Amino acid sequence: MKVSKAEIVISAVSEKQYPSDRRPEIALAGRSNVGKSSFINKLINRKNLARTSSKPGKTQTLNFYNINDILYFVDVPGYGYAKVSKKEREKWGRMMEEYFSLRDTLKLTVLIVDIRHKPTEDDRMMYDFLKHYEIPVLVIATKLDKIPKNKKSAHLKQVIDTLDLDQEDTVIPFSAETSEGKEDAWSYLSKYI
Ligand code: GDP
Repeated sequence: MKVSKAEIVISAVSEKQYPSDRRPEIALAGRSNVGKSSFINKLINRKNLARTSSKPGKTQTLNFYNINDILYFVDVPGYGYAKVSKKEREKWGRMMEEYFSLRDTLKLTVLIVDIRHKPTEDDRMMYDFLKHYEIPVLVIATKLDKIPKNKKSAHLKQVIDTLDLDQEDTVIPFSAETSEGKEDAWSYLSKYI
């Protein structure tokens, strides 16, 4: 998809702030620092819209981006950052529950993992959480440029096995550095818009 318009419309902390126009939404989730903002920015051809600087511990919000006036990307705050207080974590959990359990305009969640490493326990929990709410998931295995080409299949297998991915779910290897996987990602997303 050619993105001609991408703008943040709301940083929401609760349901009453979500957009009410019922456009389809695609959520993006991943642990802190995995490369989620870089993935979003690459897909929408912006250097800096989804803030790569969003520091863990800052106010946690669901950021709704209007894409071409036809859909929203919903950037979910990163998880798995050790220094976040228990209170913050609980707040995060409540916000996630509120969004993922109720939002019927949510069509798909993109779960971003690091292709270099075995997905973490938090990644597994996120995947299971989405499955629990019967939300379609696309897994993006990012930072592909950081592994040798001949290791790609082994790393993808590690992602699939560790998440215990359902047959119906897809993993797309991706790099925000080289743009590899960008077209595949958009064509997958397009099915849900
Ligand atoms: P976020 O916290 O998940 O939003 O992560 P960021 O998008 O801010 O990325 C964290 C770090 O990883 C930054 O230094 C990025 O430049 C780097 N990064 C993200 N994606 C890639 C990628 O595909 N390849 C490489 N080499 N670095 C990446």
